[in-house]
Amino acid sequence: MATEQTYIMVKPDGVQRGLVGEIIKRFETRGFQLVALKMVHASVEHLEEHYKDLKGKGFFPGLIKYMNSGPVVAMVWQGKDVVKQGRVLLGATNPLASAPGTIRGDFAIDVGRNICHGSDSVESAKAEIALWFGQDGTISYSRAVDAWIYEVS
Ligand code: UDP
Ligand code: MG
Repeated sequence: MATEQTYIMVKPDGVQRGLVGEIIKRFETRGFQLVALKMVHASVEHLEEHYKDLKGKGFFPGLIKYMNSGPVVAMVWQGKDVVKQGRVLLGATNPLASAPGTIRGDFAIDVGRNICHGSDSVESAKAEIALWFGQDGTISYSRAVDAWIYEVS
């Protein structure tokens, strides 16, 4: 069975707006498996590391300030093709370009308040999981329901 993992995060606006359960629900009901979760008020340094590829962009200082403005919910979700599918569940970076039915398309308007993060590749997922869950790691456990989600589990 696929063990691909992705890093999904409810951003400070998602937490403040009471959308944690809604976002978890979308991944849970799709059939993906939650293998790590914690709440954290991340430091500026930690956030600059997370978004290091965007350093130099005009929106970078505002992005770090936004992400440091309150706690986030950090999660690792596991399952077949979960990195790509996670991005599909989230919607486009700019919520105005996100289809209804996606998280951003249903709950957000501005790009700088787009309520959630998802890794954009298997490689960046590995780096992000290491950054946010390095010491804690993820939990490995079997689910009886997998036989009803995957043809072969
Ligand atoms: N962002 C922004 N303005 C932009 C582009 C991005 O404020 O013009 C923020 C937005 O919150 C986005 C984050 O920076 O989610 C990271 O940008 P990226 O291009 O990695 O988008 P994502 O992977 O989150 O869809
Ligand atoms: Mg990104």
